[in-house]
Parts: sequence; structure tokens; C-alpha cells
Amino acid sequence: MPLVREKDGRRLHVKSKLMGESLVSKSFIEGLPVAPQTRLYPDVNILKVGGQSICDRGAKALPPIIQEIAVNKSEHKMLVTTGGGTRSRHIYAIGLELGMPTGVLAKFGNSISEQNALLVTMLLAPYGGIKIGHDEIVKLTSYFVQGCIPVMHGMPPYDYFAIPPAKGRIPIHRTDVGTIILADLIGARTCIFIKDEKGLYTGDPKKNAKEKFIPEIGAKTLMEKDQDDLIVERPCLEILQNSEVLKQIQIVNGLEEGNITKALSGKKVGTIIYKE
Ligand code: ADP
Ligand code: MG
Repeated sequence: MPLVREKDGRRLHVKSKLMGESLVSKSFIEGLPVAPQTRLYPDVNILKVGGQSICDRGAKALPPIIQEIAVNKSEHKMLVTTGGGTRSRHIYAIGLELGMPTGVLAKFGNSISEQNALLVTMLLAPYGGIKIGHDEIVKLTSYFVQGCIPVMHGMPPYDYFAIPPAKGRIPIHRTDVGTIILADLIGARTCIFIKDEKGLYTGDPKKNAKEKFIPEIGAKTLMEKDQDDLIVERPCLEILQNSEVLKQIQIVNGLEEGNITKALSGKKVGTIIYKE
């Protein structure tokens, strides 16, 4: 690439479309032609095993889920992520009370979802479970060739640099967000959240039994609905809506056997939130 000296002779540029741009200008970014995003691992399914919803239930919930994942290995490539759950909430509560900033809380959340990743990996070990870190994403092909089921903690690695939210200090980008960003990154075949409810309702069904089940909804519509509570972290909706490679996410009840297999086979089970 040729080097270009600005007319006034002050700045030296490597010639490119972004030359001399702040990368902030809205009109510039809108008009910038870009190639469509490459789907790096289009046959890989992302499965998030919930922290509070699944891992915290221990022996009551995890063994059948592990079995179902293991049985699906011959048919599907799966990358498993994990949530943090109650232990994250415990340390968030203590941290908040002691004035800890968002970045410290995010760091706490990270290490707890990692504990659950270790737990799920060990349970999956007889079937090829292997715990991986974020740098191993580029090695996915070789893990699948070797018959592994890679497991990663779900927290995005913002850690100390987690963005302070508009209200409060609990990081808004937690393990659901880490999971959907991962799905976007690799251009995953599916992004399935394994939780403890049938799917999305008009509000938290644990708090009000009258909430209505929503089998299917567009991400934009759901954002506009501005529900008080959701079954996935709120920023997931915008990430899905902006994704070039994800068409939908699916939330299934992992306490009911067969749902993971159905979701992996493309069946309509649980709730589907689609990009509109
Ligand atoms: P995870 O452990 O996977 O992170 P969470 O416990 O954070 O899962 O979120 C799942 C829970 O969200 C459900 O168990 C349910 O009680 C609650 N929830 C809140 N709002 C909704 C909603 N609108 N629809 C369904 N579940 C909801
Ligand atoms: Mg959660």
C-alpha cells in the first residue's frame, strides 16, 4: 500500500478508504462499503447452559442436559457456554454494598461463570468435554475433528473495562450477551439458551403466573415493547437486531428432556426471537 503525504506535508498516511477519517462520522460509516461478514464456523451450534436457571440446580438439572448434549455430538458440532447464577448475584450484592465499580463486578462475574464452565466441562469429560478460553476460538476446527465438546465461560472479557450502565453498577453485558456475541463472531448455525422456563413470557412467570407465553417475536418489536423483565439480558436484542449473520436465537426449557435436541434439529420449541 502506498504511503501518502497530506498536502500540508504534516501527516503520513497508508492509503485506504479509512484514511484521515475519525471513524466517528455517522455519514461516513453509513456510506462505507463493506463486504458481508464471513461466517467463520457456520455449522457450529452455541448452547448456553444457564447459571441460575440450570447450573445452580445441580444434580436435579445438569445430568440429563449433559446426556442430551452428549447424544447430539454425532449429529451436531456444539460449543457450550455457561452462566454464573446465584453466586454471581451474591458477590454482586456484596460488591455493590461496598461501592465496587462495574468493572470489578464484571471481573467477579467472569470468575464465577468460569467455575460453572469447569463444572460443565468435567461432567462432559467422558464425552469429549474440554474447557477452552477465548483465545481457543480459533482452534475450534481441531477440537471438533478430535470429537471434543468445547466449553467456555459466557462472560465477555470486558472485565475491568465493562461499560458502566445508565443506572446502577451491575454490568449489563453478562453471560447471555457473551454468548450471543460469540454466536455472531463465529456466524453460528444456532444460538440456543438453555434455561428453566418454557421461553419468553410477557413478564417473569415466577413472579406472576398470569404472564403470557410468547412463542415467537421479532427483536425490534420486543425492544419497542420495553417489557419490565426478560428471559435474556436486554442488550442481546440489539445485538441480534444488528447482527449480519444471526437470524434468530432460541430459548428452551432445559428441565424438559428433548428440547435441546428439538432446537438443534431446527424445530420450533420454546421461544424464537428473530432479527426483523
Ligand atoms: P440464566 O441462569 O440462564 O442466566 P436467568 O435466571 O438469569 O437465567 O434468567 C432466566 C429467568 O428469567 C427465568 O427463570 C425467569 O424466572 C426470569 N424471567 C424474567 N423475565 C422473564 C420473562 N419475560 N419471560 C420468561 N422468564 C423471565
Ligand atoms: Mg442470567
